[in-house]
Amino acid sequence: MRASELDVSDIEQTVSTGAVPPDERLDDLLDAAHARALAHEEGTVADYIPTLADADPTSFGLCIADVRGGLHEIGDTRAPFSIQSISKAFVYALLSEQVGHEEAFDIVGVNNSGLAFDSVVAIELNDGHPMNPMVNAGALATTALLPGDADEKWATVHEGLSRFAGRELTLDDEVYRSESETNQRNQAIAMLLQSYGRIRHDPAEVVDVYTRQCSLLVDARDLAVMGSTLADGGVNPVTGERVVSAEVCRDTLAVLAASGLYENSGEWLFEIGLPGKSGVAGGLVTVAPGKVGIGAYAPRLDAAGNSVRGQIATAHLARSLGLNIFASDSHFSAGARA
Ligand code: GLN
Repeated sequence: MRASELDVSDIEQTVSTGAVPPDERLDDLLDAAHARALAHEEGTVADYIPTLADADPTSFGLCIADVRGGLHEIGDTRAPFSIQSISKAFVYALLSEQVGHEEAFDIVGVNNSGLAFDSVVAIELNDGHPMNPMVNAGALATTALLPGDADEKWATVHEGLSRFAGRELTLDDEVYRSESETNQRNQAIAMLLQSYGRIRHDPAEVVDVYTRQCSLLVDARDLAVMGSTLADGGVNPVTGERVVSAEVCRDTLAVLAASGLYENSGEWLFEIGLPGKSGVAGGLVTVAPGKVGIGAYAPRLDAAGNSVRGQIATAHLARSLGLNIFASDSHFSAGARA
């Protein structure tokens, strides 16, 4: 049976979320997570987009933004880097806000492709379907679906991502130029989608808007705030502004849980138990619904393109802060009947 046949829209959506430890304890646990991950020097900085190779491999920032608007930071949380694939999560949320649950589901899809983020084979194997918005094919289809011409699409992306971050984000011109000169694979993917009738907008323009969205500069604090907006039903806890609806947050987080870390998403969910999204510049955002957003920046990546230190620090926090959405304790052993 297809997920779209499970129509329960007549049932009121209730939520089950808890609280994080008090600030002092949270700061101690943040320090411990940072120290643990700092000891790791494995992984390599991405260089397939030439300027990314210039990143400082030792840079490491970790930030938690809670849904009360509190920020907890350690390390290089103000070091700027390009958002890259993490933009896919937030642009998908903006699209869902515009076109709604059904259309976003039908056109872009929500299933993991099981293949690398820039796979062409995945498109061919699925009759031209882009599969999900977290791989390049689905992200290009998402950007293509945003209303208006290329300028309007870019305005939606730039303004929308800035509202998630709570400040106006700027473009890294060097990254944009460097990726524009070397993104033939993304151009090919967009044209392949066009050949299957999956995108109706000019593929070169779609790739250009997508390349710009990937070149927006953020820091670990921004990622934490952006994540906390998805954790807080679509309201940015720092600015108090509603960016998207609670329903859109729920849908976006489900997509992240399935595909946010590409073909390693199952392993990530198994170990960490939270929706997250990584980018090749070394950023990682993780969301604990109703509780916190976690932003990490450390440019050394594993083979799937995910930040090594970011994953270790986030795994530590998921356990120590009790964030794993699959973890529970016995009703009786917790003393609830005492
Ligand atoms: N801009 C990059 C690309 O399209 C983003 C990839 C990523 O962060 N995984 O190849």
